[in-house]
Amino acid sequence: MKIEQLHELFLQCSSACTDTRKIKQNDLFFALKGGNFNGNEYAELALKNGAKYAIIDDVLFNTSPKTILVKNVLETLQKLASYHRSYLNTPIIALTGSNGKTTTKELINATLSQKYKTTATIGNLNNHIGVPLTLLSMTNNTEIGIVEMGANHQKEIAFLCNIAKPDYGYITNFGKAHLEGFGGIEGVIKGKSEMYDFLINNHRTVFVNGNDSIQTNKTKNANTFVFGKKNHGFDIDINFIEALPFVKSEYNELEIESQLIGDYNFNNIAAAIAIGNYFKVEDNDIKTAIENYTPVNNRSQIIQKDTNRIILDAYNANPTSMRAALLNFEKQPNSKKIAFIGDMFELGKEAKNEHQNMADFAISLNIDQVILIGENFFKTEIKSDRAKQFISFEDFKDNWLNNSKIKNVSILIKGSRGMALERVLEFI
Ligand code: ATP
Ligand code: MG
Repeated sequence: MKIEQLHELFLQCSSACTDTRKIKQNDLFFALKGGNFNGNEYAELALKNGAKYAIIDDVLFNTSPKTILVKNVLETLQKLASYHRSYLNTPIIALTGSNGKTTTKELINATLSQKYKTTATIGNLNNHIGVPLTLLSMTNNTEIGIVEMGANHQKEIAFLCNIAKPDYGYITNFGKAHLEGFGGIEGVIKGKSEMYDFLINNHRTVFVNGNDSIQTNKTKNANTFVFGKKNHGFDIDINFIEALPFVKSEYNELEIESQLIGDYNFNNIAAAIAIGNYFKVEDNDIKTAIENYTPVNNRSQIIQKDTNRIILDAYNANPTSMRAALLNFEKQPNSKKIAFIGDMFELGKEAKNEHQNMADFAISLNIDQVILIGENFFKTEIKSDRAKQFISFEDFKDNWLNNSKIKNVSILIKGSRGMALERVLEFI
């Protein structure tokens, strides 16, 4: 079937769906294959649950007038999304970067939705499947689309940009994340910059944090809208006031007090203010949007449990975000401080060094106890009695958590997703 025809069918459906458990009436089902599953086997169920058509790529399951057989379901999903994007006349803002994409996306969405009908990436659906699904969730009623793009290797952002064809883009930062797939920090800069290449080659606009020298250097030839701290001649000035207890910023003489912790969130907030200003959202509406936003899903959440104050940042970790989190934690006022930090994944051959550096860094800070959890942290050399090492969460639970009384302390919980360190909460 030609993509034009498939698009005609798609327009008759309510939305695109890849999960039979989430099928809604009249959806278009895509039978994707994964490591452990073959979506083709679910096509019949999808139709039974209400899907209007099911796109499949295994002839064995071509059993209904409502199944549409294609060569490759994933490629069809991506091609359809790309075709749909060209059909839409919606301006699209794309976001990538090593840290803070989802937070920034949510803040931008909160800000722009004060004035426009927006459609943004749901949660963290930012990959070669999530980006097409996000695009397919937009209609011509969408006044601005906001698309998060994640990557762990070269050419991925270029590929996603070619599907989403963004009119605007922002790279949150270039940090030490996914070093393994990208080949070191230089590789990260090159890989993320594929978004700049797309925007520059197509004469689109780049939002730039003027205080980030990599961003300003990489966008010398771009159409830019630059934001940053005062007195640098930027397009818009946004000032940092303080980060304790929450990040507070100043813009156009308005004080904006967020519910976000960690001074690293200043950049995320500033980007949302700048983009709101660019799209002419009223200043007071920008303020309201940012002040009302609260983080979700274990991202820099503050939790008070009995006498303990917990910063739960167990959503994910890499050297850049862990350093930022530890520095912020050190600055928290009064009380005894304990940091529970878990292994950082996907660091490849840098893993040994990065874990040693992180352990040394954590111990060098004014933190009373540093608890290192995971195989990588277990291998680091520690010369301080303020630090303890455990090879796994179970080891930590059996030999520390279960026998410790934690009272009146500030706690930081930070580690890679696979460590699932939010489990600590059950014990304190
Ligand atoms: P993912 O790659 O999983 O999609 P992301 O880029 O979407 O991550 P967020 O989910 O917004 O990032 O934030 C994850 C964590 O990164 C936060 O909890 C915080 O610890 C850290 N972080 C957020 N913003 C920044 C930033 N600008 N610089 C450094 N670290 C940050
Ligand atoms: Mg994300």
